[in-house]
Amino acid sequence: MAQAPARKLFIQSYGCQMNVYDSERMGEILRHHGFASASRAEDADLVILNTCHIREKAAEKVYSEIGRLRQLKAQERDGRGPAKIVVAGCVAQAEGEEIARRTEAVDLVVGPQTYHRLPNLIARLDHGERRIVATEFATDEKLATLAANARARPLARGVSAFLTVQEGCDKFCTFCVVPYTRGAEFSRPVGQVLAEAHRLVETGVREITLLGQNVNAYRGKGEDGKPWSLARLIGALSRIAGIERIRYTTSHPLDMSDDLIAAHGENERLMPYLHLPVQSGSDKVLAAMNRRHDAAFYIDLIARIRAARPDIALSGDFIVGFPGETEADFEATLSLVRTIGYAQAYSFKYSPRPGTPAAERAGQVPDAVKAERLRRLQELLNSQQRAFNEAMQGTRFDVLLERPGRHRGQLVGRSPYLQAVHLNASKARIGEIVPVLVDAIGANSLSAHIVSGALAIPSSGCASFGAVEGFEHTA
Ligand code: SF4
Repeated sequence: MAQAPARKLFIQSYGCQMNVYDSERMGEILRHHGFASASRAEDADLVILNTCHIREKAAEKVYSEIGRLRQLKAQERDGRGPAKIVVAGCVAQAEGEEIARRTEAVDLVVGPQTYHRLPNLIARLDHGERRIVATEFATDEKLATLAANARARPLARGVSAFLTVQEGCDKFCTFCVVPYTRGAEFSRPVGQVLAEAHRLVETGVREITLLGQNVNAYRGKGEDGKPWSLARLIGALSRIAGIERIRYTTSHPLDMSDDLIAAHGENERLMPYLHLPVQSGSDKVLAAMNRRHDAAFYIDLIARIRAARPDIALSGDFIVGFPGETEADFEATLSLVRTIGYAQAYSFKYSPRPGTPAAERAGQVPDAVKAERLRRLQELLNSQQRAFNEAMQGTRFDVLLERPGRHRGQLVGRSPYLQAVHLNASKARIGEIVPVLVDAIGANSLSAHIVSGALAIPSSGCASFGAVEGFEHTA
């Protein structure tokens, strides 16, 4: 008897690396339950929108995408029945019942802590249930189940992979939805993280980026029964044969512990790159944001990190036009940026998130003022990025070769500072770490050629890197 063709799955992921990671895990678990991948929503029997709540008007954008998918449901599909639509991610968590109430087309709303239950929830849809909302919190159960599933059927990942070690946040910055959508801080036990890292190495991974909404708050239970710091976890990961590079994101300044700072100077597998958001340079605005530190604390912290690792590439996040921000407050942000010298940074106009304290505050800044401040800030940040990139001309460093480039015979890799580097080499060399000499500087990447011999890592205090696509930050 002929077997029914596998049902097809399409996942559209928005926002941060945590969502990319979660989408991969959802794909794994559903492939394990008989789904095959579709390359576009039009061909899929199950479409998952893995949404992000950070961007402006995030919920509206999700509703408009659902409207587009609704037409898919109405299409003739050779007797396969209408496609099922799932809304996942932070908008699903924040809006929950509201999505089910407003949009008939959505079959299932599933929050970030409930993905491990997807096979069961989809079976309920197959039995005729509709508009299920599953948004309860059970982070430890979710991460353990998804990891077990990856063990059963590991996915080929390339040479660089994300590994979630922490979820949620207890900081309650007044502009941020994460504590409400991802829940309280939770760290995966050390044994579970190390086991997943071993499996990644078996699939060819050589670089691991540890993920968490507030990753440097990591306190996972170690084999000794005690909570381990992120630095201790990184130390253990760096002893796994095959892991050549380790990164982590996103961090909060208050959780940059002494051992983590020291690790940047001592652990050669920990890459010289740090994304450490400050959001504003004004003490008044930092207090209103509930960031719990002032500008002087951040500047001193950066000095200590640079003392440990002088060439570290620093990245940050900035919000302009927070409620009550005056021109003098904004000038303080520009002054902090000039003092620090960022390699690269992400900057946004403040946009109110429903349910957060700042959304209700008086003193909302007019959009035209926000736009003008953002333009000035980005001009300064771009000039710092350009300056560092130009300082890379003629320098040597190691590049991890990651994937084919757009041109024949070209590969793309990453520098230690997370810059995209284009060079000519055969595809067979993907996964190698090679010394290169930088020939030319582009807008968002470097061009280089492979050299032999000893490396000379630049030691300037102001490093820089190309942007990572789809990068969103919270801590
Ligand atoms: S901005 Fe970062 S530290 Fe603040 S509440 Fe959001 S996730 Fe937590």
